[in-house]
Order: sequence, then C-alpha cells, then structure tokens
Amino acid sequence: MRRLKIAIRGVVQGVGFRPFVYRLASEEALVGWVRNGPQGVFIEVEGPQRSLDEFLLRLPQEKPPLSFIQSLEYSVLEPAGYPDFRIRRSLDGGEKQALILPDVATCPLCREEVFSPGDRRYRYPFTNCTLCGPRFSIIQALPYDRRHTTMKKFAMCERCAREYDEPRNRRFHAQPNACPECGPQLALWDGAGAPLAERDAALCQAADAVRRGEVLALKGIGGFQLLADARNEAAVARLRQRKRREEKPLAVMCPDLEGARRCVHLSAIEEQVLLSPQSPILLARRRPAAGIAPSVAPGNPHLGVMLPYSPLHHLLMSDLGFPVVATSGNLQDEPIVTDEEEAVATLGGIVDCFLVHDRPIERYVDDSVVRVQLGREVVLRRARGYAPLPVTLKQKLPPLLAVGAHLKNTVAISRGRDVILSQHIGDLETAQAFFAHRKVFEDLLRLYDVKPRAVACDAHPDYLSSQHARELGFPVVEVFHHHAHLASCLAENELDGEVLGATWDGAGFGEDGTIWGGEFLVGDAGGCHRVATFRPFRLVGGEQAMREPRRSALGLLFEMEGEAALERPWSFLKGFSEGERHLLGQMLARGSNSPITSSCGRLFDAVAAFLGIKAVSTFEGQAAMMVEFAVQEGVDDSYPVSLLIAGEGQPLVFDWEPVLHAMLRDQERGVEAGVICTRFHNALAELIVEVARQVGLERVALTGGCFQNRYLTERAFHRLEEAGFRPFTHQRVPPNDGGIALGQIAVAAAKVA
Ligand SMILES: [Zn+2]
Ligand SMILES: [Zn+2]
Ligand SMILES: [Zn+2]
Repeated sequence: MRRLKIAIRGVVQGVGFRPFVYRLASEEALVGWVRNGPQGVFIEVEGPQRSLDEFLLRLPQEKPPLSFIQSLEYSVLEPAGYPDFRIRRSLDGGEKQALILPDVATCPLCREEVFSPGDRRYRYPFTNCTLCGPRFSIIQALPYDRRHTTMKKFAMCERCAREYDEPRNRRFHAQPNACPECGPQLALWDGAGAPLAERDAALCQAADAVRRGEVLALKGIGGFQLLADARNEAAVARLRQRKRREEKPLAVMCPDLEGARRCVHLSAIEEQVLLSPQSPILLARRRPAAGIAPSVAPGNPHLGVMLPYSPLHHLLMSDLGFPVVATSGNLQDEPIVTDEEEAVATLGGIVDCFLVHDRPIERYVDDSVVRVQLGREVVLRRARGYAPLPVTLKQKLPPLLAVGAHLKNTVAISRGRDVILSQHIGDLETAQAFFAHRKVFEDLLRLYDVKPRAVACDAHPDYLSSQHARELGFPVVEVFHHHAHLASCLAENELDGEVLGATWDGAGFGEDGTIWGGEFLVGDAGGCHRVATFRPFRLVGGEQAMREPRRSALGLLFEMEGEAALERPWSFLKGFSEGERHLLGQMLARGSNSPITSSCGRLFDAVAAFLGIKAVSTFEGQAAMMVEFAVQEGVDDSYPVSLLIAGEGQPLVFDWEPVLHAMLRDQERGVEAGVICTRFHNALAELIVEVARQVGLERVALTGGCFQNRYLTERAFHRLEEAGFRPFTHQRVPPNDGGIALGQIAVAAAKVA
C-alpha cells in the first residue's frame, strides 16, 4: 500500500477534471481525495502499487477533452488511511498558478437539451456545463468557483444544486450552472432602454426585429454585438452608416455549418476551425451567389463567417434561419460595451432594440479572428476562445508586464514559464481605449497575483502604451518594435539561438529613429541586428499617408525622380488638386512632416495606388489587402529582385525601383492587374530567399502584419523550403501587433534575468 500526492497544473478547473479523477479513482478502487486549489488540482490517492501505476498512466490519457495538463508532479508517501474517495472543498490562498480557461462554445450535449421540448432547459439561453460555457468573461478571482464569478448573485435551485453536487453529473461543479428556474433571464428593450418583453417572448420579438430589417444589440458572452439581416442591403447599410464604419468588412454569423458552406468555400480544416470550442470568425473565400448584401464586405472576395457559440445565439439563429451581420457593439476605436445601462447610453443612437440579460460580464472579450494558412489556423485577432491561455516558453521567466504596441493592442504578463497574452484590446486611439488598456493589464496582474519586476514597452517615444509603462514606477525595458516581432515568433515556435527574421509590417519605430517596416533582422530575444532593409522613401504628411496609399506612391516617385515626379501622368496624382500637388512637392523637397520609412506595408499601398486599385483607404491595411486579393493562382514568374550593398557593416538594401519599373511596363502593355500583383508578391518571396542565402542561416522566421497575407506567407514559406531553409510562422499568436506583447516579454526576460 502506498499513497501518491499529485499536483496538476494547467487547464484543469471548470472542465470536469475533478469528477473525472473521482471516476478514475473509483474504477481503480483507490481511496483519498481531489480538490481545486489556487495552483491547480491536487490529488491524494492510496492503494496497491499496481492500481496507483494504472491511475498515473490513465490520468493524462483519459483526461476530459477540454482540459490541458501542463505539469504533473507527484511524490510517494506512507498511506494516511483514508476511508473512501472524496471531492474536497476548494482552497484559497497561496501563489496563484492555476490557469483560467477561455470562454468555450456550447457543447453538443447542451445544444441538444436547449432544442429538446421535453427538457427542463428547453429554449433556455444560459445553459452550460463543465464542457462549455462562459469562463474568462465571468471570473472575478481564482480559484475558479461560483462565488468568484458573476454567477454568484444567482442562488441555484434545488435541481441545479443537485447536479452541481453530484460527481457523476456533467454539471458537477459547473460554476455558471443555471436553469430557467434560478438563472439569468432575457429581456428586450427598445432603443431608449424601455422594456418591451421578457424571457422567451424577448427572444422571439428580437428575432422579429431582425427579420423586419432592424438593428439589434445583443448582450453576448464577452460584450454586446450588433446584429442585422445580412441579406438586407438597407439594414446593413443603415448599420454601417450609424456606426460610421465605411468599408471595413463586417463578420457574418450563419445558423449552422450548412449555412456557412453556402456563404464561403470551406476546406476540411476550415470547417474544423468553425466547429471548434474556440468558435472564431473565420476568414474564407466567399461564394459569389451567397445572397449576402453587397455592403457587408464591399469589394472583398473574402468573408468573415462564424457559427453560433452560445445557446442564446443558437436559439436566435435557428429562429431566423438566415445569416446575420454580427459585429462588435462599440463605437469606432472604442472597447466593446459590456453593461446594458452603458449600452443604452452609447449604442442607443445606433440600434433599434436591445436583447439583454442579467448575467454580468466581468471583462470584455471580442470575437477572435482566424485564417487558415499553410493548412493550419493562424489567429489574427486573439480574444474569445483563445485568451487567456498561456504560451509556455522553455525557460522560467521573471515576473514581467508587457504593454504591447499601439494598433491591435494586447498586453501580457509572465508567470513561471507561462506568458499570458491578454484578449485583443484594439487600437489605442481614443481615451476609452487608453483607459481599457490600463484596466486590462491591472486586471491580469490582479487575477494572477503577479508583481512585475519590470515593464516592457515599445521603444516608440510617443506611444500611449509606453506612456502607461513609464507611469507605473517599475523599471522600464524599451523594446524595439521589430525586435519584439522577431522574439514573438521565436517564443511561439520555441526557437533558441540566432535566426533570420523577415519582420515586415506597416510601421514601427526603428533604431535609427526612422519608421521601419521592411526589415530583416538576425538575432534572438537577447539581441538582434539589421542585415537588410527596404530602400527608404518619404511619407508625405506622416499619419495622413497611412490612410492615403497615393501618398506612398508619390513618396516612391519622388525618391526616384525628385520634383519631376509631380508632373508625371499617373492617375493617382490627378486625384490631388493643383494646390495640393504643389504643397506636397514642397513638403517632400524640404522633408517637412515627411518621415523616412522602409515600410513594407506602405510599399503595398504604393502598388495599390499605381495600379489604380486604391488611392485612398478607409481603414488600416485596406489597400494592402486589395493587392493580396488581386493575386491570381498559377502565375509563377516574378519581377527582378536587386539587393544593393550599402557599405561595410551596413544592411543590404532591397531596391524596389526595378520591381516598380517592371510593374509599370507590364501595366502599359495591358497586363492584367491580377498578374502584376502576383508577380509583385512573388518578387517579395524571392527577396526573402535571396537574403536568406546571403545571410546563410537555416532558420527563417516570417513575422509582422504583412504575414497576415496568405499568398505572401505561403509563397515565401514554400520557396524557402525549396531552397533548403527552415521557415517558421505564427499560429496561436497573431503575426500582427497583437503578438508584440509576447515578444516584449521574451526580450525583457533576456535583459532582466
Ligand atoms: Zn455543455
Ligand atoms: Zn436551476
Ligand atoms: Zn508591427
């Protein structure tokens, strides 16, 4: 007879782990106990050695599907003489090491109950169990227990309490367990917040409103969403107009997989992503005759689709039976609204009615966005379903905070070997977003009880996030933007040692004070140096140039031809008035408010303007996206790539001029824009291979916002492999600035340790 004392860390709370341990111990006829603690799950089992061995073997093999064992430690002790096996009450206190699970999409069992007329949870929108339901959006403190969630205000009825206490029940210790008797309820309010209906009538009338073409604000899992009939052009156009969102694509929720298949082309992996417990928005190629209103995603051959992920969504979507636009319930650049009173105040002018409920949302969690590249999912916006699962590094880290960059902001903390990357916060453009940024990192530090030894921030002197970092009173580690991109990709792929990184994005503050963006770095988290870069040009008007691709095009022309550029016959130049052209010419000649950049994103912008694809953007990255969407499969040739040697110890310079000349010659000859765009992409892939050859490092990391571009990523990846290199890309962590905080942690850890 022996006793095993086991500590398990990972995603082991709220996923049915304790009932599983209870069953396993019973099957092996072992006695002892299991309980949740702040650091994870603790088990003591005693019995014959053989049974204990079996228990240890089966534990990780048969664990509940949503659980994730990060570490399992045990020691062998003398028996304590337990009479039976029990599930003990959770313990508070101690160092908090348990992980918090993300919100999980409705499981098939709960969905079936909700649609079964005889079931006591028939049409109950807040049905959940240990396999599914809200987690991160309702937790207030660790350990994850009902009294530490926003469900604490609902006292369970007798039947729910029985389920909660019965180890063999699927709802055993399901913290948000609820039923129509005792749980949260729906209400429908008009645009001014006056009640219209309650419970199921609220749901039915909300569906009627959407059918009539009205805009509905729905209080979902991690915040409000705005819904409108995706087939109804007038409804969608009204939503856009009221939200002041011009052309940025809107996501669509389909009633089921069949419905999604009618809207977009789906591969087997893409279907898997849609049906996963994360249930993200998936970007996929749309079908032409899908019946989706033109203004859902104007001029965009792709569509973001998702499936219902809560019982409320399932019920509403099954009542409707057609796709609806489902976009975040916020004002432009502001965080999503989570509270119904606040919703009426901020969204009242935008929506016709509110479908609300009385389960408080502790923190906002946006819908995640995923795209499949290289046959695997790449998270572009990491929020619901993914956050706050950690990225586990190989080495132990000091406790740190990283505040991220400026656009697509996320923050991160480190604890042990884990980096916990926050949910997507957004662009820190408004006072509200700035306030939300602080709230999110304070929330993470408190939840996980982390006291940072240092704060990492972007080296940009003016970023609001860096300003936050400096106000906290901890030592500050400034991390250069592209170094953070590189370190993020290395951390995610568990790579040590020197690697070549193609770190390509729109803009990041560079070591020489110019705006970097088309960089090749060699190094690791500990340090790096620039080995190649794009030939620089001026961004006339600074910030303004981010929104006007024609300004990037003018910058290139001016770099090549000087003031003669202004007299050239390009159509994008004719978009400027005579006076504007004169002023821009003067600014370029003097270099006033025309920062120097080596940006890859702006080069894409310039190409869009030259080819007449887009001269003025309405949202960040639009022109670059349109250049990608113009790509035609089956075009294999590329424009010539030339690398200039700038001098001893200087980085190589990619000269885009020959590429541009070749493109414009093609255009004159009447070659299709799609073919030109493809040859341009192919040239960039050849550039990466050429730099890799010159540098001579086998491992090449592809990171930065430009690698959201599927064609560029896949082409570069395959060409590198063909040339004998080992390319690495992002998967769970966004390649864009949403992944910067992870890289900042890795770099700061190397500096602080
Ligand atoms: Zn369930
Ligand atoms: Zn109940
Ligand atoms: Zn970046």
